[in-house]
Amino acid sequence: MSVFSHSEFDDHQQVAFFNDGASGLKAIIAVHNTNLGPALGGCRMWPYESEDEALTDVLRLSRGMTYKSALANLSLGGGKAVIIGDPARDKSDALLHAMGDFIQGLGGRYITAEDSGTSVADLLKIGEKTDFVSGIDKVSAHGGDPSPSTAYGVFVSLREAVYHKLGRTDLNGVKVAVQGLGNVGYRLAEQLSDAGAELYVTDIIQANVDRAVRELNAIAVKGDQIFSLDVDVFAPCALGAAINDQTIPQLRAAIVAGAANNQLATAKHGYQLHQRGILYAPDYVVNAGGIVDVFYQRKMLEEGYGLDNYAADLDAKVEGIGATLREIFVRSDRENVPTFVIADQVAEERFAGANSLYQPDPAVA
Ligand code: NAD
Repeated sequence: MSVFSHSEFDDHQQVAFFNDGASGLKAIIAVHNTNLGPALGGCRMWPYESEDEALTDVLRLSRGMTYKSALANLSLGGGKAVIIGDPARDKSDALLHAMGDFIQGLGGRYITAEDSGTSVADLLKIGEKTDFVSGIDKVSAHGGDPSPSTAYGVFVSLREAVYHKLGRTDLNGVKVAVQGLGNVGYRLAEQLSDAGAELYVTDIIQANVDRAVRELNAIAVKGDQIFSLDVDVFAPCALGAAINDQTIPQLRAAIVAGAANNQLATAKHGYQLHQRGILYAPDYVVNAGGIVDVFYQRKMLEEGYGLDNYAADLDAKVEGIGATLREIFVRSDRENVPTFVIADQVAEERFAGANSLYQPDPAVA
């Protein structure tokens, strides 16, 4: 297994491997870039089939966090942690404590958060051993759950995309197809409904659809029909890879803007949207409201930042996602380059230019 010549290695600043024989912990933490601040990213626990698969994941995901935070204008870098193991079988207090010790040993260069396979309860355990945990504060504007901020960021993005593509300054009567009515999708649908949008919705959980029909006057759509509706916006808020070989030919929407991670099955599909004149609001720009929320939760804890300032600043920062998207859309039109390519360029300009390596506190390290 190689690291520096690994296909996902992209000038990462640090890759740390941890082993604790007593608890069975085997973990990797990748710090991609700290030019803008400490590297924040979730701790994933997954039964990886090989160490190389775990390394691939942590290298790729940590890089993604650098780009996401830079585009959200946060003073954060990008990092990620993976624990190799089955969360249902291998997790123990001893293992989580060992993970906390390791994170503490990095002296604040990496700050952890929830991810697949780890819960708030796990983070509280990890937090018994380290100061560098976020996303567990219950006093925050939304009780620690970042989904409402994510949903607001998607709403702001959708409004911006509608203005750019359709020249509309409001959403009254704009037709939006929402795929997935979970934590983010349902809240988005509520805000869209309040703004007068016409909603078409689908979910594999019928109760979610029934609720949207009942409460938001939405029109229920069966499964894959959501892709081919004659709507203004398609908002993927379920799983990844919604934009793929099968769905692109069906799309009639002028805009794709939603919460789901990794919406493009491959980069090729981003080019195809561009060629078809469909405006794609890049997912990791659109869904950054959650990390903005986590950032402010931490600020509150660290700096005794007041709840009132927190809520106002949080909303302003999430609204800033709209300005970043505007910059991306304008450059994409001017240069005739897909939005997701421009988004990467904007992120690189922000973090590469910063060039001030975050220094951990020597008192802690
Ligand atoms: P969630 O699990 O609460 O909701 C997902 C919903 O999609 C569920 O209701 C599920 O039944 C539905 N669904 C799954 N497969 C479907 C299908 N094939 N067709 C229709 N509906 C389907 O998740 P969430 O927290 O709302 O997140 C939604 C997406 O946004 C995910 O891709 C997630 O990674 C991404 N995201 C979430 C956040 C956040 O703060 N929660 C932040 C960034 C990105």
